[in-house]
Amino acid sequence: MQPIPYGRQTITPADIEAVSAALTSPFLTQGPTVPAFEAAVAARVGASHAVAVNSATSALHLACLALDLGPGDRLWTSPITFVASANCGRYCGADVAFVDIDPATGLMDPDALQRQLAAAAANGTLPKVIVPVHLTGTSCAMAPIAAAADRYGVQLIEDASHAIGARYAGQPVGSCAHSAISVFSFHPVKIITTAEGGMATTNDAQLAARMARLRSHGIERERELFELPDAGPWAYEQQELGFNYRLTDLQAALGLSQLQRLEAIVAERNRLLQVYRDLLSSLPVRLLHIPADCHSSVHLAVIRLQEQDPAQHRRVFEGLRAAGIGVQLHYAPVHLQPYYRRLGWKPGDFPAAEAYASSAISLPLFPGLSESDQQRVVNTLRQLL
Ligand SMILES: *Cc1c(COP(=O)(O)O)cnc(C)c1O
Repeated sequence: MQPIPYGRQTITPADIEAVSAALTSPFLTQGPTVPAFEAAVAARVGASHAVAVNSATSALHLACLALDLGPGDRLWTSPITFVASANCGRYCGADVAFVDIDPATGLMDPDALQRQLAAAAANGTLPKVIVPVHLTGTSCAMAPIAAAADRYGVQLIEDASHAIGARYAGQPVGSCAHSAISVFSFHPVKIITTAEGGMATTNDAQLAARMARLRSHGIERERELFELPDAGPWAYEQQELGFNYRLTDLQAALGLSQLQRLEAIVAERNRLLQVYRDLLSSLPVRLLHIPADCHSSVHLAVIRLQEQDPAQHRRVFEGLRAAGIGVQLHYAPVHLQPYYRRLGWKPGDFPAAEAYASSAISLPLFPGLSESDQQRVVNTLRQLL
């Protein structure tokens, strides 16, 4: 039988045509397609500004720099995320800490956050930035998280890598209604793709300008913003230390083409999740809870085994893999990665996250997955349980 991957991109003839057209246009990079893609994403998510970069990792790094995160500062995120949500703090020389999850949703727990902020305020260890992560494309509870962050003057960066096309309390994720900056990933396993690529959205013109400048070496090209008074007509100015984090026009063309289908992709992912929900109803597992005020983009279908038994988790996981079913764990807790253990984190630090990681399994889910494949996944799971 054919192996079933856990995720897979969809490339249509229209996508191929769009990239071919970009390939024969005058600009392979730094042309007009990148700002067109930025404008389209900004319009789609209801943000004033969007800055395209070569990955969500780069977008997280630039977002932290734009918020002036640096040595001596602290960044908090969820332990159940991809390592990039935490590493962006380390790139800036900041210390990284974590806030435990709500076991039902897998998302940062607003009550745990509130308690941790109160304790940090009492002993002078408040973070400068918090990165809530919209795991599986379901938004964190941004209203209580933003209320808690505002109380202590903490800035929010939403890691919305999974969540383009999602909504929270009626607003598109990425509108930054409750945050300074939101970040999307366009890696092939995510909702839409540019091969590698990412985007930061914000409603703050200064943050957008800072991220755009840092994306391209810290170089300023607007003459009225030059620091030196006697610049020649050929000049540009490097005003700070930036990077080459640019997205190419070929990638932007692919992104623009994929974005046309966003609505349909998210609807199809929700439909596939509903099929799983029905097929799984008689099994001793449960899908992560999606709160009523969230419309998820359903990047992942994560089940949790009801038995809290790491040995059973491993056996079921291996059994599915052996049957050619590409299950994954999203994610092993970041604080238990060897790099973060060396910074002092250890088992027991975040019990809800650790219990999640010994019971969660991401089932295959991508547009084009057939109902018979979904049945095969669930039947194999039933036999293993
Ligand atoms: C994929 C992902 C990233 C990193 O995205 P890249 O575009 O691969 O750099 C960051 N955070 C989360 C939660 C992700 O899933």
